[in-house]
Amino acid sequence: MSASLPLHSPQCVVGVIGGGQLGRMIALAARRMGIRTVIWTGGLEAPAVECADEVIDLPFDDPIALDDFCRRTTVATVEFENIPCETLEKVAKCTGLHPSPYAICITQNREREKNFLRDNNIPCTWYAVIANAADLAAAMKELNGPGVLKTADFGYDGKGQVKLEGGEDPKKIWADFGSPRAVLEAWVPFEKELSVIAARGADGVTVTYDPAENRHRHRILDVSIIPARVSPAVALEAAAIARRVAEALDYRGIMGVEFFLKSDGSLLVNEIAPRPHNSGHHTLDACVTSQFSQQLRAVIGLPLGSTRLHTPAVMLNLLGDMWPDETTPPDWLPLFEDGNASLHLYGKRHARGRRKMGHANFLGTTVEDALARAEAMKAKWLEH
Ligand code: AMP
Repeated sequence: MSASLPLHSPQCVVGVIGGGQLGRMIALAARRMGIRTVIWTGGLEAPAVECADEVIDLPFDDPIALDDFCRRTTVATVEFENIPCETLEKVAKCTGLHPSPYAICITQNREREKNFLRDNNIPCTWYAVIANAADLAAAMKELNGPGVLKTADFGYDGKGQVKLEGGEDPKKIWADFGSPRAVLEAWVPFEKELSVIAARGADGVTVTYDPAENRHRHRILDVSIIPARVSPAVALEAAAIARRVAEALDYRGIMGVEFFLKSDGSLLVNEIAPRPHNSGHHTLDACVTSQFSQQLRAVIGLPLGSTRLHTPAVMLNLLGDMWPDETTPPDWLPLFEDGNASLHLYGKRHARGRRKMGHANFLGTTVEDALARAEAMKAKWLEH
């Protein structure tokens, strides 16, 4: 194993590229472990800032910011994958970056990610790379059914996606799409969506958390149910695929692998996130090691912690539409009255439609018990 950085010392300063809620939760985990953090926001609104020790509030392509970031940190990671690859390469050289630029640059782009999956014989949905209307016409003909056109770059949470039934005019679709490159994927009639959070340490040891069963609302994660209600064989297969992804990327750090589960029990990888994942937020309250402290262990070079789930859990995302208005939060009292639920807010000042404002973890004797309480709470908060 590579030597770990000394904790509680000025030599252990973790730089985080990106200042969103994932960065905030990494910074909070770091605080608990006595590790200092520097957050590089990219000049974007950054809920991580108030939890960080130091902040660099400049764009990701700013050379002064890069120098400053490298000087102030002993090792770095990302909480957001859409960072220019050139910047990632430079950070890797000057201070060390985990996961590697290779892993991040593959997973930040759907075309590279799909090609990586195909080249490594990891099951994923049928797809074609699209660079113009003629490519789209040929791919739609070959697919001959419903699909979804997705931008190659900068897509997440259903952004930059158009569902196609199959009979549309490819010229018009491409003209309206407005992205230079895309992938057309076959529409998967899935039974469930699952995800596995995996971590691979400096010594190449990979651990996985119990699979989560994910439900979406407006194409954004709504609830994660852990453990997923699937057969042991499916759970084992999902973990095995996540492990293969981590190994094929020579990965170091935490990752989320999203799957479609089909009715015949087969699994297809939908997406890989090279960072903590929204469906792993329950690990803060329900697991021995949270995905955020696991990330720090991997990045610093410490042995990984147990992924054991203490208790069944449901994570409910708190989206902006639960706020009666931009600045008025929902009534949290019922959540505190529950006694086995916990509130995690990201400190965002203004609530808007689908914005992720926080999440709540419900612990239960069974997932059904936790899910019923989470759904009842959600219905109350959406009532306004
Ligand atoms: P993504 O941003 O690719 O994770 O897509 C967001 C959500 O859209 C997924 O979690 C699915 O619910 C749905 N979706 C995306 N791609 C497909 C597909 N090929 N077939 C069916 N549903 C999809």
